[in-house]
Amino acid sequence: METSTTRPLKIYFLPFFAQGHLIPLVNLARLVASRGQHVTIITTPSNAQTFENSISDDGAKIRVHIVNFPGKKLGLADGVENLFAASDNETAGKIHMAAHLIRPEIESLMKQNPPDVFIPDIMFTWSQSTSKDLAIPRLVFNPISIFDVCMIEAIKKHPEAFESESGPYNIPGLPHPLTLPIKPSPGFARVTESIVEAEKGSHGVIVNSFAELDVGYTEYYENLTGRKVWHVGPTSLMVQKTKEETKVTDSQKHECLSWLDTKQAGSVVYICFGSLCRLSDKQLLEIATGLEASKHQFLWVVHRKNDVVENDNDTNKWLPEGFEEKMRKENRGMLIKGWAPQALILSHSAIGGFLTHCGWNALVEAISAGVPMITMPGFGDQYYNEKLVTEVHRFGVEVGTAEWSLSPYDAKKVVVGGERIEKAVKRLMGDGKIRERAKEMQEKAWRAVQEGGSSQNSLTALIDYLNTLVLVPKSAAAAN
Ligand code: UDP
Repeated sequence: METSTTRPLKIYFLPFFAQGHLIPLVNLARLVASRGQHVTIITTPSNAQTFENSISDDGAKIRVHIVNFPGKKLGLADGVENLFAASDNETAGKIHMAAHLIRPEIESLMKQNPPDVFIPDIMFTWSQSTSKDLAIPRLVFNPISIFDVCMIEAIKKHPEAFESESGPYNIPGLPHPLTLPIKPSPGFARVTESIVEAEKGSHGVIVNSFAELDVGYTEYYENLTGRKVWHVGPTSLMVQKTKEETKVTDSQKHECLSWLDTKQAGSVVYICFGSLCRLSDKQLLEIATGLEASKHQFLWVVHRKNDVVENDNDTNKWLPEGFEEKMRKENRGMLIKGWAPQALILSHSAIGGFLTHCGWNALVEAISAGVPMITMPGFGDQYYNEKLVTEVHRFGVEVGTAEWSLSPYDAKKVVVGGERIEKAVKRLMGDGKIRERAKEMQEKAWRAVQEGGSSQNSLTALIDYLNTLVLVPKSAAAAN
């Protein structure tokens, strides 16, 4: 059979309304466009603004098709179109609802001007029936990892492993012996099952990861589901390609990067809980206490309430008295109250460790930079991501949590004590073996994105596969 078409493929990408989903899917769209395909990113006005700059170098190769965001209908303020702008469950619920309400407009676009292939984020569960009804082949983009999906499936298959009242719980049947300290919440199981269910009928899953990181789990997933996996990540590295391209001009430089320039290699701990998590004041206080007691230098990003807090002087509730002044005087710590250039921070040589909520993108960015992690999961799949770091590959120290949160906005009732954080920071910063393992995984990530590397080969295989889809009758290609 012929394996390629002579014309570029027309491909529609649909990123979900959250930074952790949108950034890697836009990167994927750029990568596919760079291989000569006709790419359209379908999104809403405010979400388009967040990535306009990043695609400006891609010129005419990428089209952005804007659909209306039904914010008014849902009672959302103008411009609130992304979970990053939400700080409570109600607002987040409306943004999730909007992801369903845009369906008719997207279907009408696809009827008028059908693509060869549709690649939506996994959160658009309705895409399953859209693709079937319109006979358009679909692959899904999964911004969580295949490892997570394997954990979800193994937990579902073995309810007996979670019968006892308290943990740790051993999870049977996976390529590694893994334990969870607490039970997954039933609500989380329901949400993930509906998402995993929506993969059915797709031609497979594209993930922001690389084969060497998911080692053993890709085969587990493919055998279990019969669906294919394409690892085309880390997408940020794939786009960046070489280490030298990371250069930042002085005028673009965030003040924290200049501060890091004054620090010794590997001497600073970076702390950030992603774009969504809002920690309780009590928890922030414990983090501050733990950092201070660790005696290590730190750069701490705090997103506290209603989107980005630029000028929050109300620190007496969540910082020990005189904390900021003391840290400044000793030149030991820096606080960023607002959006930070995380990828650049992590790749700065001064960073020696990362206290993270284990968001998938945070994890992949830390791996790309060879930074070992201290793990303190925030919500959802992050409890599973922690296991990949601390038990599968062992390039991190586990702090863990005592409570399973389904939402980033529900502050946990049980806080992690400062002493636990202090101990983990000291252990990580003093452990050469963990650092070495992080560097080894970084090497693997960089090899994966070079010419001939596993992620580059996977991107080639993906495009070859997409080409085969347009050569078979539409109804057969829509669902396998
Ligand atoms: N991020 C950033 N600056 C911040 C907070 C987050 O650049 O101050 C980026 C981070 O680098 C990552 C994304 O936002 O690319 C967050 O995705 P992740 O999966 O780590 O966590 P989520 O925000 O979805 O919980």
